[in-house]
Amino acid sequence: MKITSNFDSGNIKVLAINEPLDIQLEINPDNGSEFFQWFHFRLESTPFLGHRLHINGLEKSAYPEGWEGYDAVASYDRQTWFRVPSKYENGSLIIDVEPEHKQMYFAYFAPYSYERHLDLLAFAQSYDSVDIETLGETLDGRDISLIRVGEPSSEKKNIWIIGRQHPGETMAEWFIEGVLHKLLDDEDPHAAALLSKATFYIVPNMNPDGGARGHLRTNAIGVNLNREWKTPTLEKSPEVFHVLNKMHEVGLDMFLDIHGDEALPYNFVAGSEGIPSYSDRLAKLETEFKQALLTITPEFQDEYGYPKDEPGKANMTVASCAVGEAFNALSYTVEMPFKDNANLPDSYFGWSDRRSYQFGQDMLAAVLNVVEKLR
Ligand SMILES: [Zn+2]
Repeated sequence: MKITSNFDSGNIKVLAINEPLDIQLEINPDNGSEFFQWFHFRLESTPFLGHRLHINGLEKSAYPEGWEGYDAVASYDRQTWFRVPSKYENGSLIIDVEPEHKQMYFAYFAPYSYERHLDLLAFAQSYDSVDIETLGETLDGRDISLIRVGEPSSEKKNIWIIGRQHPGETMAEWFIEGVLHKLLDDEDPHAAALLSKATFYIVPNMNPDGGARGHLRTNAIGVNLNREWKTPTLEKSPEVFHVLNKMHEVGLDMFLDIHGDEALPYNFVAGSEGIPSYSDRLAKLETEFKQALLTITPEFQDEYGYPKDEPGKANMTVASCAVGEAFNALSYTVEMPFKDNANLPDSYFGWSDRRSYQFGQDMLAAVLNVVEKLR
């Protein structure tokens, strides 16, 4: 029996692996930080034999409530990721499984590798409407890549979509893959209509270092990028520094920052109602956008989410608030579940890579309802 996590986005610590029914594991915290929740590893053992995996110490994880009602994600071929029944007891996630093959992969959510990220950039660059720009380098020396779709013009709105500030929230890049595939489909009517009115600026992966290192929430040195938008620095948060500079260079009329939420089993958005310059105009845009989304997809709801900020009480270090304020623009944090959508549960897949991809496409379609009014 063997467990390894020595690959892209791998993360697990083996405490004991003597008996198939008594495998004891822990999750390594993000480098330079106390956050941990993301795991990704491969078990190699005898197939068709009962195994019990305990992931321990989770009462100290970033979101202990994220383990209640959560089933781990697993795969044999690293393409199809399905759920394996899990239960949370006394700070341990217990996974009971009878592997069908010698090698079985486990993860917190369907991984989105750095290689797949590079494949997405390579796919996009073959389109005439696309320009890919390297804005700068991360602390580990990876590229911070921006995909522009559509020709810039002062007549057009500038719509920015970023994902994976929190690298373990891989559903964000599945979502963005959906957005890009739809936007680059030359027979897609939403894409055609949108691209006549807007230029898209998309950062599929804000935190490639954290992703490759198997982090949940921070970059290479343990910095939470979504608390860096007030005063990003090249030393601590070059990812935010370069992207925010580019936003100021080209302009911004709408912003979507894509995330995953560990605890809530719903898709929802968090607005910028607490920023100093929040106005009736922004409130109206938010309502129209949410109404469009509710009409387009039953995966979206507006009942469960984060408590709304009091007027003027927004945390201005958070991307959606800082950007909404700086550009007086419609600005949302988008949250998808790690667990499932409780309004449309699927016991085999739960919330998944495919559903995140589809949700990205549906949200893109909803942008069409507000694009004319963004400025
Ligand atoms: Zn997040």
